[in-house]
Parts: sequence; C-alpha cells; structure tokens
Amino acid sequence: MKGAVLYGTKDIRVEDRDDPKIIEPTDAVLRLSASCICGSDLWPYRGLQPIEGPTHMGPEYCGIVAEVGSAVRSIKPGQFVVGSFATSANTCPHCQYGYQSACVHREFMLRAQARSCVCPMRTELLYLPRAARPHPISCRACLHARTFSAPAG
Ligand SMILES: [Zn+2]
Repeated sequence: MKGAVLYGTKDIRVEDRDDPKIIEPTDAVLRLSASCICGSDLWPYRGLQPIEGPTHMGPEYCGIVAEVGSAVRSIKPGQFVVGSFATSANTCPHCQYGYQSACVHREFMLRAQARSCVCPMRTELLYLPRAARPHPISCRACLHARTFSAPAG
C-alpha cells in the first residue's frame, strides 16, 4: 500500500508501507475515501516546525470501515465514518465531559494519507448515514473532533 511521508521542508514522498492491521481490540481499519491536508501538515511542510525524521501524514480522514477489533461496538464493517485527528481512551475526566480531543491519553492520528489506515485505541469515529454525508465528499475531521463524541470502542 502507498502512503505519504514528509521528509522535510517541501519534501513529501509516496512510499510503500505495510497494510494496516488490527492490533488492539479497540482498533478499527478503514478504507479511506478522502483525507485532508491539515494545518498540522503544513507547518512542517513549510519548514516552520521541525520534524525528528520521516513522518507519516494525514490526521483527518473519512472512509469505509473494513474491520473492527473485538471490543468495538459503535461501528461495524461497511459503514462510512469520519475520524478524529486525536485518539482518546474515553476514560479520563476530559473524555467523560465530552472533550475526547483533550484526552490525557491522547495521541495524534497520522498515516491517513494512504489507501487505508488503522485507528488505534478508541479513536472517535462517527458513523455518517448517507443523508448526513457532505456532498461532494469533504473531510470534516477537524470540525468533527471539536463537535461530536462517538468513540469507536
Ligand atoms: Zn480521555
């Protein structure tokens, strides 16, 4: 599978990488329909933010659920979902108050500028029924992460 990797200022390469796989029971694998170029991609691309080495790109995305871990109950294969740029455990006070993007266990989602990706932990994945999908498809992950709370697990 091909995916975008940032090597440095204005140096993006499309490289082969392993197909994503379920590792934790709360993971989900998505076949991506679209991914966005986020401001967090542009700062290092422009050389305004250093990176420590080659960095996979793509924190904002939407797509079809291909596979879910054994603990995932809120989504199922075949559904169209939009994901958050941040993973969350949904166990801390921030999550309980509805701010999963501020989770104390948060990690930032990467690797979505590819054909598919794995969403680790309890990344917020919001199922969008056909009537609620933006047309034409545009990724609303940034807005979603600040507006909705629907953990995958
Ligand atoms: Zn949390």
